[in-house]
Amino acid sequence: MCADVIYRRRMSLPSHGQPHQEVIAQLRNMRTDDAQWQDGRTFGLVYDGGAEVHAIAEEASAMFLHENALNTVAIPSLGQIQREVVGAMAELLHGPEGSGFMTSGGTESILMAVKAARERGRAERGIERGQIVLADSAHAAFHKGASYFGLDSVVVGVDADFRCDLDATADAITDRTVLVVGSAPQYPQGVIDPIPDLAMLAAEVGANFHTDACMGGFVLPFMERLGEPIPPWDFRVPGVTSISLDVHKLGYAPKGASIIVHRNKELRRYQTFSFDNWLGGFYASPNMQGSRSGAPMAAAWAVMHRLGLEGYDDLTRTTIEAARQIQAAVDRIEGIRLVGNPEAQILAVTSDPNSVTAPPVDIFVVGDKLAARGWYLDRQNRPDSLHMTVSAGNAPIVSEFVTDLEAAVQSARGDVATDRSTNYSTLD
Ligand SMILES: *Cc1c(COP(=O)(O)O)cnc(C)c1O
Repeated sequence: MCADVIYRRRMSLPSHGQPHQEVIAQLRNMRTDDAQWQDGRTFGLVYDGGAEVHAIAEEASAMFLHENALNTVAIPSLGQIQREVVGAMAELLHGPEGSGFMTSGGTESILMAVKAARERGRAERGIERGQIVLADSAHAAFHKGASYFGLDSVVVGVDADFRCDLDATADAITDRTVLVVGSAPQYPQGVIDPIPDLAMLAAEVGANFHTDACMGGFVLPFMERLGEPIPPWDFRVPGVTSISLDVHKLGYAPKGASIIVHRNKELRRYQTFSFDNWLGGFYASPNMQGSRSGAPMAAAWAVMHRLGLEGYDDLTRTTIEAARQIQAAVDRIEGIRLVGNPEAQILAVTSDPNSVTAPPVDIFVVGDKLAARGWYLDRQNRPDSLHMTVSAGNAPIVSEFVTDLEAAVQSARGDVATDRSTNYSTLD
């Protein structure tokens, strides 16, 4: 019987507890079809910082596995961990008065940026139902935030380079705008939006401006340290009021760790919630969660301290070199090309409409061929493309990937995929 049948069948708890080894063996069996990120063949989902990073993360998260950050008076170590993680990154983002919290992920950081903008709009400008102005490249979590918190999304297009369109943004901003969004870089094509101009437009109406650096927050500061020219995106840009950055992406910590930093404590207070009329006592809460696992917080702190600035410099150098090798291969391989001109680690690959050699290449067929060779790349559209978040874990297999990509393009010629669906995330 295949694993599928055995392990999807059992939907009720066993009446007797099962032996330890049996429970663990069942979990191990469930994983047989999972993407093989450990081999560097996954361009997203899990970002592999290497054996030493795993070791410290596993020891730290085991130490804090049962701890709860709900009340940092009872468990002050988690308060200290949060302060130190946020403080270190606020400094790196050039926010001397920066103040924020750890969250469970980029989505929660973004939800909190949306909530803070709504509260500020209400308190300072009397806006009952605010608007978020954002490009169609901005992460879907902003729409989730608008839906959860009762705001309207006003979507603008991107320019020919896939960067948020400035004129369209200027036209879309109204006296109801409470938040303008830019990304550094945005997820779909990996390009950095024109943050200084966007933030200025937001400031003109007194709206918040959020830089979504979920992907770039642990890459761009280190690229800058390595001497790469990076367009401005952090708190050095006037008008940027908050920034999100994910330790659990290119910060190489395990899942469940992101950071939101506000420019100062004044702005941060719009994020938090407190309630003093409950029989259970005074309720104060920084983010969406109530009880909050200490494990990802401690693992993030530990990974950041194990690596230090120089460790991140090295991982960033490795990552960007790998991304540029793939970029060069895509430029060279007839029939495919890159979408836009990404600055950092994210690449989107599409078919080349100007390719001189017939028949044309359907990029989704290339994706299927790569999947058959054990590579995991996301699919997206407008334009149809394969999405890659390159990280240090992919570096050892870049030449193998390039060989397979070349072969996949060759054998894809003339075929058209019937399944045109895309797959960023799923329900169940
Ligand atoms: C991943 C990502 C997010 C969402 O983060 P999660 O940790 O998946 O919730 C937001 N913005 C960008 C640009 C991202 O790449």
